[in-house]
Amino acid sequence: MTHAYAALAADTPLAPHSITRRAVGPTDVAIEILFCGVCHSDLHTARGEWGGTKWPCVPGHEIVGRVNAIGADVTGHAVGSMVGVGCLVDSCRECHACEDNLEQYCDTGATWTYNSVDKHLGGVTFGGYSTDVVVDQAFVLRIPESLDPAGAAPLLCAGVTTFSPLRHWNVGTGSRVGVVGLGGLGHMAVKLAHAMSAEVTLFTTSPGKEADARRLGADHVVVTQRGATTAPVTPSLDLIINTVSVPHSLDPYLGALDREGVMVMVGVPPEPHQSPSMMALITRRRSLAGSLIGGIAETQEMLDFCAEHGIVSDIEVIPMHAINEAYERMLKSDVKYRFVIDMATLRYATSGQGAA
Ligand code: NAP
Ligand code: ZN
Ligand code: ZN
Repeated sequence: MTHAYAALAADTPLAPHSITRRAVGPTDVAIEILFCGVCHSDLHTARGEWGGTKWPCVPGHEIVGRVNAIGADVTGHAVGSMVGVGCLVDSCRECHACEDNLEQYCDTGATWTYNSVDKHLGGVTFGGYSTDVVVDQAFVLRIPESLDPAGAAPLLCAGVTTFSPLRHWNVGTGSRVGVVGLGGLGHMAVKLAHAMSAEVTLFTTSPGKEADARRLGADHVVVTQRGATTAPVTPSLDLIINTVSVPHSLDPYLGALDREGVMVMVGVPPEPHQSPSMMALITRRRSLAGSLIGGIAETQEMLDFCAEHGIVSDIEVIPMHAINEAYERMLKSDVKYRFVIDMATLRYATSGQGAA
């Protein structure tokens, strides 16, 4: 039996819950979870905002922990090493997407870390708001030793979700990159784009985040009004990463793109955005695109890039029982800039060894 925190229904707070993890198979890695980041997708899923949630739902896909057992055929990971698990725990491994190391776009549907069909035990997969997890070695990442384990946890989703489009659209020296929203994803986008030598413009609806944005690597900070419909800057950007978690007018940001600029949507609000103006798209041959996390190889590449550049997430560590308060603060854009659960607080609270 594994201790966890779960949403039992869309409208009830997360609460202590027990789950079962599978026995360690020949290619499996058993991980004692030390830290788990809190992604806005956890909240969307726990509350059923995207549809398709199966309760009880144990969220969490920014997992860092220590290997405590391996199967007989495991080669890349050893007992005691620091590892990570992101949003993916399996895929078909045969389709064109999987062959291209893009498991997140698997033609038959990847197995997500939570709320996916569990091929081993039946039911659904359970995520990282728990003390332990068993994952196939092909979906376990190496956490470089130089990275703080708690600060590294959000790299497994927020990090790779912003790294992947920055790489796909060839960001480098001279690139003019915009980032919309300074939350978990947004602050990683600012750090990573800055490390890739881009000129970074941050759009925020929170005036109080301006100084932080500059410290994180933004060259320009533009405070926008919620509900704004006009472009906050002249058309000057090559790429915008839009991380906002609620529906809003896309036109102001499309209007900030230079000719042939691209706005990549990574935020997934529960309700659709209003259709953008076609005039905003055609006038400078602009594109609107989307991007979903990153594949396993790219996630490892991102972790190694972060080690090379000394990048981790800016975090606020919380005990497991503070998760419901953390969700409420996330809804108020009051996250600096990622909550990370210290899983010892669940392990000791439930084993009766210490205070929660
Ligand atoms: P987050 O930490 O809550 O950040 C979202 C940010 O959006 C806020 O900090 C805020 O930034 C801005 N915002 C919030 N309400 C707003 C409003 N009413 N108007 C304008 N801006 C507003 O969330 P996150 O964890 O970064 O996730 C962001 C979104 O990405 C979520 O929808 C999540 O599900 C999705 N996501 C997608 C992927 C993917 O693969 N595509 C992966 C992970 C997450 P300011 O205060 O700076 O305005
Ligand atoms: Zn996520
Ligand atoms: Zn596949």
